[in-house]
Amino acid sequence: GELEPFSNFPPVDFTVKEEREVYPAAMSKIRKDFGKKYALHINGKDVVTDDTLDSYNPADPSEIIGTVCQAGIAEVDQAVSAAKQAYIDWRNVEPRERAQYLLKASKYCKEHIHDLCALQVLEVGKQWDQAQADIGEAIDFMEYYAREMIRLGDPKRMGNSPGEFSQYFYQGKGVAAVIAPWNFPLAISVGMVAAAIVCGCPVVYKPAGISSVVGHGLVDMFKAAGLPDGVFNYTPGRGSVMGDYLVDHPDIAVIAFTGSMEVGLRIQERAAKVHPGQEHCKKVIAEMGGKNAIIIDDDADLDEAVLGVLYASFGFQGQKCSACSRVIVLDSIYDRFVHRLKEAAESVKLGPAEDPSNYMGPVVDKAAQKNVLNYGKIAEEEGKVLVKHEAPAEYLSKGGCYTPLLIVEGITKEHRIAQEEVFGPILAVMRASTFLEAVDIANSTKFALTGAVYSRSPKNLEYASREFRVGNLYLNKPSVGALVERHSFGGFKMSGVGSKSGGPDYLLQFMDPRLVCENT
Ligand code: GLU
Repeated sequence: GELEPFSNFPPVDFTVKEEREVYPAAMSKIRKDFGKKYALHINGKDVVTDDTLDSYNPADPSEIIGTVCQAGIAEVDQAVSAAKQAYIDWRNVEPRERAQYLLKASKYCKEHIHDLCALQVLEVGKQWDQAQADIGEAIDFMEYYAREMIRLGDPKRMGNSPGEFSQYFYQGKGVAAVIAPWNFPLAISVGMVAAAIVCGCPVVYKPAGISSVVGHGLVDMFKAAGLPDGVFNYTPGRGSVMGDYLVDHPDIAVIAFTGSMEVGLRIQERAAKVHPGQEHCKKVIAEMGGKNAIIIDDDADLDEAVLGVLYASFGFQGQKCSACSRVIVLDSIYDRFVHRLKEAAESVKLGPAEDPSNYMGPVVDKAAQKNVLNYGKIAEEEGKVLVKHEAPAEYLSKGGCYTPLLIVEGITKEHRIAQEEVFGPILAVMRASTFLEAVDIANSTKFALTGAVYSRSPKNLEYASREFRVGNLYLNKPSVGALVERHSFGGFKMSGVGSKSGGPDYLLQFMDPRLVCENT
């Protein structure tokens, strides 16, 4: 039958008692599996390696979530070769049929949503509601890309010249390497993987080491969907051992990456080089960083603006490429806004994400903690501390990867904290004397990912729509939390190359168009 039109998976409603109770239960349940060993998955089979990596709970590093086998170059070779073999049949499977596998995997996610959420809360320290939003987004990607492939899958007749029948259609480019981040560990992984698969490109998937148990969920979900062997291969591994090797591999046709600017640029540079045996130009889709700003106009609704800035800056500890890291405040409202922001920021609770009364938790691991603390020092040197809110001593003494909720004021365009992406809970407050100046400051970085404006002035909102040049601009709402389709997501400048995920042009990047013209 015909598919229902796409609609977003609904957010969790914690006013419902059952929804509140199900989370602690799911956590106890999945904790029983903790410490388990996870194999690679190549050509439909589990592959065990000697090298393993432990994934731990950032709130309590003594809790091991899982021990994950690590692919070396031999396993990358196996996975790429399985994918290359699978491509021969997979590219010819009808688009409609390929879409069915996504819909089945989506059904699996819906049925296992609470376990999937609980795992994410414990493996990366994501707050419950945001963990649920991440699974919801994974579901949305599969539902949306399934429909998109059906839309694009019908060959299109071109022209209407008599005596000629000309058809335009698409074919998957070949084997795709998917290199995923840990911050939206299910959603972004599933988004890139599902897009490649539905387009006819078998996948070699490298999850981030920090979230590779969540990443293993893709093995379960595509098994449940009955996906043919070799179309999806799970190969977690150390970037330093197999990252470049995967990117350089002559049989990789597409690389879909989400992560830092540094790694994204490295991938683009390496992918441009043609290696012996390589028969195509590699296509790179890279979503990279942001240094996103929220502008507070002099007539902003401060009730909304304060909560919006707090959430965009410190939700999931600011570890989103969409997070707000600069708030640009008009002079005439500066004192009022900053006073209220300080009060709000000081009133939130810090602690493990497992306890839903905590607004902010630990950053994702020890390396992230070190990096964020270092940027904290820079921020304190460059500006003046407005808020430095630490996690309670009991959590720190457990060795949790906490860093303070930090807000500094007195920051100007030239400062490092106004230019470099931190990926953590540090917010720079900047001043502007006019709305035009605020937009100019907002645009003054090499990034162009998200931004937001709180204003009641139609003229200023209109000006911002035109001149605040980012991929996703939000008016009177926070800069985070893009929904598939409604807020197709992605930026430009140093924020990435390729078109928006969850948007109408995304799938085209994984395919080559073909034209067949018959003289009739
Ligand atoms: N799509 C996410 C959001 O809108 C951000 C994705 C990312 O951090 O990579 O908040």
